[in-house]
Amino acid sequence: MTEELFRANAYDKSCAATVVDITDNGGIVLDRTVFYATGGGQPGDRGTIALTGGAQIEINGTIHAPGNGIVHIPADPAQAGQGLKPGDTVQAVLDWDIRYRRMRMHTAMHLLSVVLPYPVTGGQLTEDAGRLDFDIREAGLDKSAITDELNALIAEDQPS
Ligand SMILES: [Zn+2]
Repeated sequence: MTEELFRANAYDKSCAATVVDITDNGGIVLDRTVFYATGGGQPGDRGTIALTGGAQIEINGTIHAPGNGIVHIPADPAQAGQGLKPGDTVQAVLDWDIRYRRMRMHTAMHLLSVVLPYPVTGGQLTEDAGRLDFDIREAGLDKSAITDELNALIAEDQPS
């Protein structure tokens, strides 16, 4: 299994790690990672895995593999075959710009669910947009009032 460093500190941008497995389709499993895997409506992180020799593998997605840990998916699956093998040490480096935008969007969705205290039936977010589905019986919601309430919550700048 992969130690999920982002659980302890969501602001870690990189980490040293050891390769524990290369999947059949070139995915890279590490013993620890700062890469968030797709889940809860949030896409898996992107970034690079830097090898000790200086080569870099571009990662364009991260997923959970049941029973195997977190899999970092190379943009070019053939790249993982570049001599990378279990036991190798690497540096996992997030595309922090995208990750941070997704974190902020995620928090905005939580705040929205505070402003709109209705059952949430679904949701999805990217670095550019977020969507939450509510089960709202009554009509007549005022978008600008909701926006004001949301901005007031953001202005409180509460610790996470
Ligand atoms: Zn959440």
